[in-house]
Amino acid sequence: MSPRWDAVFLDRDGTVNVGAPPGEYVVHPESVVLLPGVAAAIARLNRAGSDVIVVTNQRAVALGLLTLDGLDAVNRRLADLLADGGARLDGIYACPHDEGGCACRKPGDGLLRRAFEEHPALRPSRCAIVGDSPRDTAAGTALGLMRVRLSARAVTDPHADVTVADLPAAVDWLLTVARPAGIPR
Ligand SMILES: [Mg+2]
Ligand SMILES: [Zn+2]
Repeated sequence: MSPRWDAVFLDRDGTVNVGAPPGEYVVHPESVVLLPGVAAAIARLNRAGSDVIVVTNQRAVALGLLTLDGLDAVNRRLADLLADGGARLDGIYACPHDEGGCACRKPGDGLLRRAFEEHPALRPSRCAIVGDSPRDTAAGTALGLMRVRLSARAVTDPHADVTVADLPAAVDWLLTVARPAGIPR
């Protein structure tokens, strides 16, 4: 039986790990701290047969605060911490560019398009994107992904299909309530 969601795309900072304060960036592996319950939530998606792929804006590279090797080290630390919690990532796509210079920085959908090119079995209409910024939900609009906004308080996000508090709640909603378009209940 095919999974309910071919893939669930996750923002990184503020969604999987604790985000840096405004104007700062997560540039050291030792600064990676998982948010509560995320490893168990991602493990649930793993068990449900959905790919879990991170799509992250990393403008710190363009700003000279982080090298691409440094970014890899941060991402490896994230994957290691998740693995310690029994969770697996199937891919990480990062935009290293500054604002306005590319098609991949969210709310652009270039990272998603690259993932779909490299994983041709994934059907966009059977995928979801989860993130704590309106850029994350907007990135999923053109391709027709289910869009889940994370926020501790009520927000108005015209690109969100639903708003929930955190990633565990998003996974719960995706696996028990939401259905991809065209899939009968
Ligand atoms: Mg974020
Ligand atoms: Zn980019």
